[in-house]
Amino acid sequence: MATHKLLLLPGDGIGPEVTREVEKIVGWFRQRGVGFETETDLVGGSAYDAHGAAISEKAMDLAQAADAVLFGAVGGPKWDGVPYAVRPEAGLLRLRKDLGLFANLRPAICYPALADASSLKREVVEGLDIMIVRELTGGVYFGEPKEIVTLEDGSQRAVDTQLYTTAEVERITRVAFDLAKARRNKVSSAEKSNVMKTGVFWRQVVSRIHKAEFSDVQLEHVLADNCAMQLVRWPKQFDVIVTDNLFGDILSDIAAMLTGSLGMLPSASLGAEDPKTGRRKALYEPVHGSAPDIAGKGLANPIAMIGSFGMALRYSFGLSDEADRLDQAIANVLASGTRTKDIAAPGMNAVGTQEIGDQIVKEL
Ligand code: ATP
Ligand code: MG
Repeated sequence: MATHKLLLLPGDGIGPEVTREVEKIVGWFRQRGVGFETETDLVGGSAYDAHGAAISEKAMDLAQAADAVLFGAVGGPKWDGVPYAVRPEAGLLRLRKDLGLFANLRPAICYPALADASSLKREVVEGLDIMIVRELTGGVYFGEPKEIVTLEDGSQRAVDTQLYTTAEVERITRVAFDLAKARRNKVSSAEKSNVMKTGVFWRQVVSRIHKAEFSDVQLEHVLADNCAMQLVRWPKQFDVIVTDNLFGDILSDIAAMLTGSLGMLPSASLGAEDPKTGRRKALYEPVHGSAPDIAGKGLANPIAMIGSFGMALRYSFGLSDEADRLDQAIANVLASGTRTKDIAAPGMNAVGTQEIGDQIVKEL
């Protein structure tokens, strides 16, 4: 039996609460013969309290050895005063860096049962299922020089540098096309080639990879500002959107809000393919943070975290039937009217974190 190594890093705040619900689902699959091997460790503020660092070397070793890391959330008011280098978020940054996680996948899915929670009209979002692929380790957030310089006359000048290499654009392009092949076979590449050299370059590289390796997938080039507009006007025209770090940051937040609540949104970050095994390092996490305002109260919506585990089933473990089954169970629970507070319509009864997890297991 193949075993799938999963490292759970629940973290702080609601992280442990929503991770517990995933453990129920792991247990369900395990009972039916799916070979999961799990380890659990600390990250964020809880790791700082235990070890004085936002992630321990032991946890980093476990992350390197795992097929997938499931990350909860980190931070909270308790750690507001800790030194910058060991702040809770440093745990996630270290994981991203050491695992080389360059591709950030943010699906925006609108379950029919929740279409009225969107700020857009039901017909615009109902059944929406798009995937934003954001380049995560390059571009203007990291390019050098990056500085504020004081000039001779005492005035100042600030510089950020948007910089991409061939290899960086090629690898994110391949991730996007690979995803599209297993979806609706369409990639929209967003840049600003009308005003930016990096945009011209991005478009050239994407076109070249498309022609050489993925000519059976539909490709369109779209200017990033138009893409933002189209996402709000008629988002269902998209399947996979691939874009750089900065535009991806903004476009994925727009797409997120098409679907309703933060408590519903999963994400994945993938690294380079191991040439021997074909596997990628991977970390899965909900888009939401540690939600200190509701932590410990059993109110958190675990669906973002459970959906993140679903992405691990699909993209790290090769278990797409199991991932489909889990997605369907989530859809069924929502369709039955079961909701946590964040997604309950006014006047609707809300249940807690555990009830949602239990209902999903029952639907499985
Ligand atoms: P971070 O900086 O870590 O991203 P944040 O300040 O953006 O955190 P979150 O922790 O994500 O904020 O919380 C934002 C709001 O959304 C809070 O009011 C929180 O209670 C709510 N929220 C976040 N996640 C969930 C969830 N899973 N279920 C219900 N409500 C949530
Ligand atoms: Mg946030």
